[in-house]
Formats: sequence, C-alpha cells, structure tokens
Amino acid sequence: MLIVMKFGGTSVGSAERIAQAAQLVVRSVREGHRVVVVTSAMSGVTNLLIDAAQAAASGQWREQVRQELLDRHTAVADALLGGTPRRDEAVAAVAERLEATDKLCFGLSMVRDLTPRLLDAISGTGERLSAPLLAAVIAAAGVDAEAVDATDVIVTTDQFGAAEPLADETRVKAQDRLGPVVGRGAVPVVTGFLGATPEGVTTTLGRGGSDFSASILAAALDADEVWIWTDVDGVMTANPAEVPEARTLREMSYSEASELAYYGAKVLHYKTILPAARQRIPVRILNSFHPDRRGTRVSAEGDPAARGVKAVTSVRNVMLVAISGTGMQGIPTIVAKTFECVADAQVNVLMISQASSENNICFAISRNDAPAVVRALRRALEIERMRGHIEEITEQAVAIVAAVGDRMRGTPGIAAAVFGSLAAEGINVIAVSQGSSERNISLVVTEDDAPNAVRAVHRAFQLDR
Ligand code: ADP
Ligand code: ASP
Ligand code: MG
Repeated sequence: MLIVMKFGGTSVGSAERIAQAAQLVVRSVREGHRVVVVTSAMSGVTNLLIDAAQAAASGQWREQVRQELLDRHTAVADALLGGTPRRDEAVAAVAERLEATDKLCFGLSMVRDLTPRLLDAISGTGERLSAPLLAAVIAAAGVDAEAVDATDVIVTTDQFGAAEPLADETRVKAQDRLGPVVGRGAVPVVTGFLGATPEGVTTTLGRGGSDFSASILAAALDADEVWIWTDVDGVMTANPAEVPEARTLREMSYSEASELAYYGAKVLHYKTILPAARQRIPVRILNSFHPDRRGTRVSAEGDPAARGVKAVTSVRNVMLVAISGTGMQGIPTIVAKTFECVADAQVNVLMISQASSENNICFAISRNDAPAVVRALRRALEIERMRGHIEEITEQAVAIVAAVGDRMRGTPGIAAAVFGSLAAEGINVIAVSQGSSERNISLVVTEDDAPNAVRAVHRAFQLDR
C-alpha cells in the first residue's frame, strides 16, 4: 500500500515523540508499505511564530524567538542524532530557516505592515523546522528519508491564510517530486500546512491545515490510505475535553466526518475529507501515543449499523448576524445583497436561517470575520434601510452546536429529542438550521450554554454506549 501519514504537533512535540513518529514510519516501511510523511510543526511553534509576527507588526522585534526555536530543535537533534553528521546537517537546516524568518520579522518591525502573504511566510516556518529533523531521525533509524518543502509540491490559489489547492497542478508536481523518492524506497517527509501559488509564493492552508495537506497529497499520488496520527484514539462522539465520557467511533462516513470537522471537531481540519472522498481513499485517525489501538476509519460506506445521531460538536467564536424588519417580505434583493457582501468578503458562512415570516434572516460567521461583513452590509443595505424595508442589522456573539449522523436522515423524532434535551437543561435555542441532507441539525446557543448543550445532546442519544 501507499500510505500518506500525517503527524500532528503533539506527535512531533518532543524528542521522545519524534522518535516514536519515526518508529511508526519505519514499522510500516518494514511491513512492505510505501510511505509519504506529512509533518506539522512541533506543538506550540506555529502560535509562537504568529505571536512574533504580530508583535513585529506593532514594532516589537522578538529577537529571542529565533534562539528559543533553535534551542528546542537542537535539543531534539542532540537527543536523537547526537554525534552524527546528520545532527549537524539537521541543525544547520533549522538555523538557516530561522535566520530567514528572523530577517522577515526584523523587516516587519520596521515597516509594521503585516500582510496575509507575509504572515504565511512567517507562520509556515515551524513545518520547515520539523521536517528536516524528522527526516534525519527516520534515516538514522535505517530507512532512507528526505525532507521536502510542500511549496515544491502543493500548488494553491493566492488566498493567503486559507489557500485552496489546485488539484491538477499539484498532481503533476507531487508525482514529479515525490514519485522518484518513493520509487527508490525512500520516505519523503513533506512540510504540512504549506503550499505555494503557481508563481511560487508561499501560502498556508489555514490553521490545523496539515491534515488537509495529507489528503491533498494522497489524492495527488493516488494513495491507498491516509493515516492521521494525533493525540486521541480517533474521532470521538464529542470533544473529549468537553465530554469526558465521549467514545471513539470505529467507522464513519466521509459526510459524517466532514460535517463534524466543519462544525468544530478540531481533530480533522474541515477541508481534509474532500480530496480523499473524491477518490474514495480511506482516512484513518490514529493515536500516536497508543499506535496499536484501532482508531477511526473514515470511508464512503461508514458504519452501516450506526444509529441516528453519531456525534455532537460545537463551534465557538461565532457571530450571528441578523437582518430584520417588517418590510422585508417579498423583497428578494435583500437576501441577494446580503450574501453578495459575504461572498465579496470571502467569508465562510456556518449556517443560515430565515424565519418563515421573512421578517428576519440570520447567518452565522466566524467572529473575526464579523466586523468587515457587518460594515459591508450596512453600506450595501443603506437604501433598504432608508426605505424602511429593514429596521436593523444586529450582531450577537454565540456558539453553534451540531448533531451529526448519516442515519438521522428519515428518522423521525430526532429534532424533537435534540430540542427536548436542551429544554430539560433550560437552554434557550436562538436559531436552528437543518440541511436538506438531514445529516446535521445545527443550533445556535449562547457561548455560555454551549458546553452544557453538547453534553445534553450526547446524553440524550446515549452516545457513550
Ligand atoms: P494534531 O496536533 O494532532 O493535529 P489537534 O489538536 O489539531 O491535533 O486535534 C486533536 C484534538 O482534537 C484532540 O486532542 C481533541 O482535544 C480535539 N477534538 C475535538 N473534537 C474532537 C472529536 N470529536 N474527536 C476527537 N478529538 C476531538
Ligand atoms: N502547524 C499548523 C498549525 O498549528 C498546522 C497544523 O498543525 O496542522 O495550525
Ligand atoms: Mg490538527
């Protein structure tokens, strides 16, 4: 089999974890598989880089960041490669990359203009530090390995911070660059999170995007499976940090996994499933701390024995924007203009709901996107406001709770049970949306109510059993 294996931040977060990751790669190679590795930055590194970029943009050059990152990566090299030429090579690669990033931060602290393009160049540094290190450790364990910069492989649009892969271009580059490495029995260790425009400008795929890198590469290489190595046993019935009794799901469908990821289950980047699903490549989510546990397998079939609701999740940091007014009936341009504004701002809408009286439409977006969208809406709907067709545009900080499951479809009583469980907890539902696919019911609640709402739904459907 050709397996694309992705290691998340905690799975490469220390010398011990990197040694374990390398062992997992070596084990699969020894079992006869061909392996392409995608690695995240060591845990915490991306946050540190983003903070450093933001500090630099306000004139504060954090000189110590370079040393801190050099020390952390050198310590790994010393522990795992000490006294070998590989150690010196890996440390030299790390030092060179850090110097380049430090120069960018210094320049930024002078110019104080942090463009999304520059932020991508800085925030993607972490993967470019971990990849050479992991490759060297795999090689030291006896399997030939080579660090590969994803900017040579994954071609994307220029939407910095959330770039979209260009599948055809990526397929050509991935096969050209990675094919020969795999062909000679070596393991390419590709930087996750990163890509480049056709002109070669560095982009990132969005926070948590290394999962997406893995499925993009799996599709480009026609891989047999994607394995996402992380710090939990798989995709669970709820976020285990929020619902301690959450259980690992053994099987789920592409649609279930993507709905869950879309509605906040951080275990998978929300775009991960699509490239794999298009080519029916199974995706496994596995625990690098307990590699012999079964994990979750995501496939086209999913779990035929599944019950109605399979998992429950929540998205925080959401803003509900509502446009209301008794004069809105029958004025279709209001809806059109509203979503034109959202589209122009390139903002992702999490849910939409319209009351049947048409007196109110509301939609949920990320809180960070809200100021720009609301400003644009006020401008675009000025005439409607003057004419009295709309009365107000309001914003409310909320959370979305989503119940997900393929077999919710056509099963009566699920919505009633969801609402009943919230009512029993005294939780007020602000807005609701159920897609016509019936694979998901999403509810808007206050941020404070979200944890209780998730637990209530989890209990109501006995997801712990
Ligand atoms: P990695 O660094 O390996 O990419 P992440 O932190 O991005 O790991 O994702 C794994 C985390 O996702 C888990 O530790 C868990 O806290 C969180 N999580 C949220 N929802 C779920 C869920 N439904 N199932 C499993 N993990 C979840
Ligand atoms: N290092 C990146 C991040 O923290 C990408 C990833 O870990 O998936 O967002
Ligand atoms: Mg992640």
